[in-house]
Amino acid sequence: MDHFLYRDGALYAEDVPVAEIAAAVGTPFYVYSTATLVRHFRLFDEALEGMDHLVCYAMKAASNQAILKTLAAEGAGMDVVSGGEYRRARAAGVPGDRIVFSGVGKTAEEIRTALEGGIRQFNVESEPEMEVLSAVASQMGKTAPITIRVNPDVDAKTHAKIATGKSENKFGIPISRAREVYAMAAALPGIEVIGIDVHIGSQLTELEPFELAYQKVAELTETLRADGHDIRRLDLGGGLGIPYARSNEAPPLPVDYGALIKRTVGHLGCEIEIEPGRLIVGNAGILVSEVIYVKSGEGRDFLILDGAMNDLIRPAMYEAYHDIIPVIEPAPAAEQAPFDIVGPVCETGDTFARQRMMPPLSAGDLVAFRSAGAYGAVMASEYNSRPLVPEVLVNGDQFAVIRPRPTFDEMINRDTIPEWL
Ligand SMILES: *Cc1c(COP(=O)(O)O)cnc(C)c1O
Repeated sequence: MDHFLYRDGALYAEDVPVAEIAAAVGTPFYVYSTATLVRHFRLFDEALEGMDHLVCYAMKAASNQAILKTLAAEGAGMDVVSGGEYRRARAAGVPGDRIVFSGVGKTAEEIRTALEGGIRQFNVESEPEMEVLSAVASQMGKTAPITIRVNPDVDAKTHAKIATGKSENKFGIPISRAREVYAMAAALPGIEVIGIDVHIGSQLTELEPFELAYQKVAELTETLRADGHDIRRLDLGGGLGIPYARSNEAPPLPVDYGALIKRTVGHLGCEIEIEPGRLIVGNAGILVSEVIYVKSGEGRDFLILDGAMNDLIRPAMYEAYHDIIPVIEPAPAAEQAPFDIVGPVCETGDTFARQRMMPPLSAGDLVAFRSAGAYGAVMASEYNSRPLVPEVLVNGDQFAVIRPRPTFDEMINRDTIPEWL
């Protein structure tokens, strides 16, 4: 459920007509719903009720300061994957002890930044990283709390580019080598082993892979405890999928995911962390774009939009499906026809949908890409010198631009000319 619904024949974002935002901001733009963000965060928080837990929003999904502040006010922690994200979280007022640092390539510099500013834990992904962390922390006279990310070798049954829990993926250490690596960690100065971390992929539409992974984590917890490690925190990652096509998908609900967590690891008495990104923000955001031309081709017609792959790369990168709906509600009897829906970028990959059945649309009409809140704006670029797409946040009947569109001059003047030119 989200808060982008038709009312009296027009699409609203909560209580604001989308067309009103378009008139004020220009197209294309992203708009997020505060009520949806908060609702989704609470679904996770409530799903883990009764367990000592922290929901750490995976901010790589959408990292605007206003989104982070909205979630932090609800009590969210943050899962960061770079020094830049760490700084963004801190800038949004998130205390260090609510930030977990994930990622396979943390540099010594990033580690230092997090140790200086305060950190809940590092999720360590390799032995070399552990050695660097140990050295940096020792040098600073600190002790870094760590979990080690294990790769449970389960098939997440998701798109290959976002599966992370198979042995061939670059993430974590093989679970079969966990005892050895935990022993090594226990012997190193400057770090303290506090738990286990796992994250098997994104956009999972079944619970079974989670179940398999968490069972392995539960077994490993017992084994490591028997080896003498004080395993007291389990970071179970993110990855719960969302419905992209409203008509035919029903991914698992957070409440069932929570029950699964209780069933698989609840008896261990550990503090639980989860790191959802997509499910919190995916359906809390839409991308709004204007039809520039309706072009008739040979055997197929094109809707050419002013939004493009540089604004929303998911269809080009992951073959992702997004519902695309007119901002003016079509009449129930409106006849639909197939269109290829494309942007103006000079690449055939700049195609959002092929032969999509759409109601009648003309130049100047607005359309909305649903479920575009996650991995949308954060992956946007200025390819083809298209100024970075702006972001808007709605809260009830108010809206605010939370990242303005750069002017052409701002975009161009970011370049600097060497003195010999
Ligand atoms: C990307 C990522 C997440 C979030 O995944 P979603 O599918 O957006 O929930 C969580 N943890 C880690 C380590 C990640 O890399």
